[in-house]
Amino acid sequence: MNRVGYVYDPIYLEHITGNHPENPTRLEAVMEHLAKVGLLQRLVPIPAVAATEEDLTRVHTERMIRKVANLAGRGGGRIDMDTLVSSRSYEAALYAAGGTMAGVQATLDGQVDAAFALVRPPGHHATPRQSMGFCLFNNVAVTARWAQEVLGIQRIAIVDFDVHHGNGTDDEFDADPDVLYVSTHEYPLYPGTGDWRRPTHVRGPDNNLNIPLPAETDDRGYMRVFRGLVEPALRRFEPELLLVSAGYDGHWADPLAWQLLSLQCYYDIAASLFAISQDVCPGRLVFTLEGGYDLDVLSAGVASSFAAMLGLPYHDPLGPARKEGVAVDRLIQRLAEWHMITGVTETEPTSSDTRSSDGR
Ligand SMILES: [Zn+2]
Repeated sequence: MNRVGYVYDPIYLEHITGNHPENPTRLEAVMEHLAKVGLLQRLVPIPAVAATEEDLTRVHTERMIRKVANLAGRGGGRIDMDTLVSSRSYEAALYAAGGTMAGVQATLDGQVDAAFALVRPPGHHATPRQSMGFCLFNNVAVTARWAQEVLGIQRIAIVDFDVHHGNGTDDEFDADPDVLYVSTHEYPLYPGTGDWRRPTHVRGPDNNLNIPLPAETDDRGYMRVFRGLVEPALRRFEPELLLVSAGYDGHWADPLAWQLLSLQCYYDIAASLFAISQDVCPGRLVFTLEGGYDLDVLSAGVASSFAAMLGLPYHDPLGPARKEGVAVDRLIQRLAEWHMITGVTETEPTSSDTRSSDGR
């Protein structure tokens, strides 16, 4: 069986947000569920470490870091309507970035074949200059910069399957030809970025694969996107390290978005990413937790990712969405042409990207 690690620390529960969808019960539910279904015992625990301020400054401005630290030092407050800081949030955020780094270190040391950092606060909306969207610092971006500058790993791919666009991660690597950012996200949706026609081709279209999906994209649409775009793009890029911003808010039961993914599809996505990592960068796959706001979905979703990495079979306890999704074939074709991705399989016999025939 594959050796798979997890990073967790109780400090992640001390980022206290009150009556907010991103709150400590998310990770409590995940840890309880992993123990209950017998997965935790199969995983290798990896101690979290704190990122240093130097680690953060590879991505973020001093001013932004001080803002979070000072707000926490004063007992907490709001960065914006969505983004809260409590007295221990700064420390929790250092450990959230550092926990993701610890996952990478454990894979490099050969302790595990893959790891998942079960952290909060999440990170992918935090831009180089601004904490936002529940995110204080950008955990995956801080980890990628650290891997480049300290570990000497140059070519890094970041796949972001959270239902929201990771605008902060996209911003950070906009001008870096060594980092491929791939995002599947509902569009339009918060934060409003991630349109593939965005003209930022400082580095050519090859290093930025934004895949904006309409509401009510289902399992079939997502798997076509992964088979037709994500997998060939990763194989072409040949990263030395594969990082994954893992969010489970595209599930049909999630309250913050309108996609129709099942847990089975999350399992298939994780299995796909594990298989690609084995081919292009064996033993260098690290997931870090982003969103997911239905506790049953989040906890079972994380479990499905672990099951895929371990190579275990899977049974989806919640089942598929009860409606059919929209077709995304034309979008896939356009993106494949734009990014010069070949080998896209033939499209289904639908004439356009319209709603399915049952009219829902
Ligand atoms: Zn999200």
